[in-house]
Amino acid sequence: MVGVGVNGYGTIGKRVADAIATQPDMDVVGVAKRSPDAGARSALSKGFSVYAPAERADRFDEAGIPLSGPVESLIDESDVIVDATPGGVGEQNAPQYAARDTPAIFQGAERHDVADASFVARANFDDAIGADRVRVVSCNTTGLARLLAPLDDAWGVERARVTLVRRGGDPAQPDRGPIDDILPDPIEIPSHHGPDVRTVLPDVDVDTMGVTVPATRMHLHAVSVTLDEAAPDLDEATVRDRLAAEPRLFLVPGDLGVESCGGLKEIAKDADRPRGDVWENCVWADSISVSDGEISCFQAIHQEADVVPENVDAVRAVTGLADADRSRRMTNVALGLDDRPVGPARDVREAGAADD
Ligand code: NAD
Repeated sequence: MVGVGVNGYGTIGKRVADAIATQPDMDVVGVAKRSPDAGARSALSKGFSVYAPAERADRFDEAGIPLSGPVESLIDESDVIVDATPGGVGEQNAPQYAARDTPAIFQGAERHDVADASFVARANFDDAIGADRVRVVSCNTTGLARLLAPLDDAWGVERARVTLVRRGGDPAQPDRGPIDDILPDPIEIPSHHGPDVRTVLPDVDVDTMGVTVPATRMHLHAVSVTLDEAAPDLDEATVRDRLAAEPRLFLVPGDLGVESCGGLKEIAKDADRPRGDVWENCVWADSISVSDGEISCFQAIHQEADVVPENVDAVRAVTGLADADRSRRMTNVALGLDDRPVGPARDVREAGAADD
């Protein structure tokens, strides 16, 4: 079993810890918190050991939250650290991990060069094998890479143009906006997402524009992809079949009657997904159109969830636990991700079946 420590237990960290705990070949060594708040109590109630900076131990003591040690001990006791702290903090933490010889996985708000490789399992798993530092790219970049990689494999992507309609903040972020406005965000074009896709798919040309709206549920991408060579016989059904075969893409069937991001979240909750999480890209099947060598579609990305299976795969890559196909399959089975959001949650004990 590979022991994983999670430093930073917020939106992403708490989901990654839960996902690691469902894997048949990994254990959660513990999670590092800075404050003895509801998150720390939740971690304890799930059976996770809690660590904190030594200078903050008194605060946990006063709150009656038992600590298993300082953050340095978590790093020492873990085979791999997943750093899920806010952007820029991971870079500050990097020297501690290196000094203790513990491989680390960083998140999307860190700079690409904090790591040896940026990572999306579908795009470039092998770049992270045996690496000391890996950066799982942002939710939007992950969603784009997962869609563009299979299109590129099948028909060659000459250029993609994407408008990203970005959620203003996560549901637990009352200080994020806008409240009643629509922002070009960033005003500069392209946004950083296109260049970021190239950190995992270097040969794919992507232009992105960002717009931020007062929403918390998901991001929505309007995607147009020009193919390398005109494929005169290519039709919508062929593209749909190709995308439907991708494990982390959910092709939303038209007859489901789901016409909004809220509707997608609702079926995930109805399927008893943890926290109503949608780990897959959701591509509306009826939005797929093909015209003059160009494929267009809408996809929704649950920003809190899509990077979670990628973090699990990144742990397998750095430790050499499994190759890309096997890791992705194990992660998906253990999470119940292959059971589409409309299906029932799968018993995690079936995860062993991923071995075959
Ligand atoms: P968050 O604010 O929800 O959680 C961060 C956690 O780190 C909190 O528990 C906070 O208390 C803790 N923390 C703060 N300062 C710290 C420090 N100095 N040392 C240790 N812990 C500290 O943030 P998040 O949304 O989970 O984002 C974390 C990373 O994941 C960022 O790089 C972000 O870009 C990336 N990410 C976030 C989302 C998203 O939608 N929230 C999606 C994909 C990737």
